[in-house]
Amino acid sequence: MHPSETPYFEAIRPNYAEEFHCIGPACEDTCCQGWSVPIDQAAWAKYQAVPPGPLRTLLDVSVLRTPEKDDSEGRAASALFAQMRMTPENACPLHGADGLCRIHAALGEAFLPTTCATYPRILRSFAGRQEMALSLSCPEAARLVLLNPKLLSDAAPEQAPESWQKFGFNSDLPFEIGNPLLLYAQPIRNSVLTLVQNRNYPLWQRMFLLGIFCRRLDAINGGELRRAIPAFLNDFEATIAVGGLRAELQTVPADHQRQLDLVLQMAGMLLHRSNVRPRFVACIEAFTAGIGNGPGATLESLTAQYGAAYDRYFAPFLRREPHILENYLINTIFRCQFPFGRDGLKPDARPSLGREFALLTSQFALIKGLLIGVAGFHGEHFAPEHVVHTVQTASKHFEHHPEFLTQAQMLLTECQMDGARGLAILLRNVETHSPHQPMAEKRHPGPQPGMNPRRGSRSPEPGLNFEEAEEIAPLV
Ligand code: SF4
Repeated sequence: MHPSETPYFEAIRPNYAEEFHCIGPACEDTCCQGWSVPIDQAAWAKYQAVPPGPLRTLLDVSVLRTPEKDDSEGRAASALFAQMRMTPENACPLHGADGLCRIHAALGEAFLPTTCATYPRILRSFAGRQEMALSLSCPEAARLVLLNPKLLSDAAPEQAPESWQKFGFNSDLPFEIGNPLLLYAQPIRNSVLTLVQNRNYPLWQRMFLLGIFCRRLDAINGGELRRAIPAFLNDFEATIAVGGLRAELQTVPADHQRQLDLVLQMAGMLLHRSNVRPRFVACIEAFTAGIGNGPGATLESLTAQYGAAYDRYFAPFLRREPHILENYLINTIFRCQFPFGRDGLKPDARPSLGREFALLTSQFALIKGLLIGVAGFHGEHFAPEHVVHTVQTASKHFEHHPEFLTQAQMLLTECQMDGARGLAILLRNVETHSPHQPMAEKRHPGPQPGMNPRRGSRSPEPGLNFEEAEEIAPLV
């Protein structure tokens, strides 16, 4: 089916990414360091035509042809046609001492490899429409997304601008629907975005409701629940619009200890990678100092400090800046094609919205957990720039670490935290301390390679199971 044959729904289209401009030499964590730089075939061909001279010589020794590789369908993988040979410091050799790219400066933007010309923009085709999100691994993109009090503009035009063609968008988008769920891809995502921005519910409750929404759609799609998708979407939105589930959601249990345990394990997974950047180490050190890690720390002592950091610094900050984590979610929804996933919109796809929700929750819980610790570290001075730094450095590690989300999901499964109850534990924080109660003294962080403080006995698991969680939403 072609998009023109799908029912008409007004799309919520992001246009914030169009405002992005690289700040070049002023960037505090340039993308020209720490990563490999793939060179596509078109860029490589252009470099062969550069006249002899110092730049051509540098290109010749730096741009290395990669052995011919085919993708799973036997087509040449042109984005990996060649690769930049990085310096021993793992920097791009074309990145000049003045902070400028020598290719860009001497030859112009048209000579940049596609990866460099596009980054940090993430180009997506969603239900036949072109969209752009941003990778928050770029500090300027993180600022643009996180600090905007109104990220989604009411006036965003329906169609993508012509200028996007330079990023290699194909205007004739294939969109074949092999799954009935995808017929409603646009209104489903509209419901997701409307829910995430509904401040009548605390953010953790919006996420919890999002989990129910995803599992219900999976059940409808799998035939376990006999409802028409449009009727379900209408009922769900109507129930949410009147705040109908707020009282029931207060019964969802909180468990800071298990939440922190999972955050520590996920952060440890990232730290065990090679090529961990000093900015990320600094971020983890601030986090661990903020929850009082050090000799003698136990999971109980860390949990107490984590709760205090939440009460005293993070929760008040979120009340002042409610858009920051919302914007993180909105950009992730566009970046990951949530709730269908990167491959979930392909013709023969069988998307699992519940699985996508678990992946979204693990990213969100990691970011939120790190921020709570960082807030504890900075105390009264915790500010938006600390959020930008934390989100950017963490994103730089896991957005470009394809196995991370899979590993995080395996961890959730192993810990039996991938059901409604476990995910709720990851999402919910409660203010438990008096705002005037002093925090325990911060300890020196020290290196945290294992992220495994001594654990005390674990209290029995409280609260809901999947069915009970679903029952709190009888109206939808
Ligand atoms: S990380 Fe972003 S702002 Fe920094 S150099 Fe790269 S694109 Fe520019």
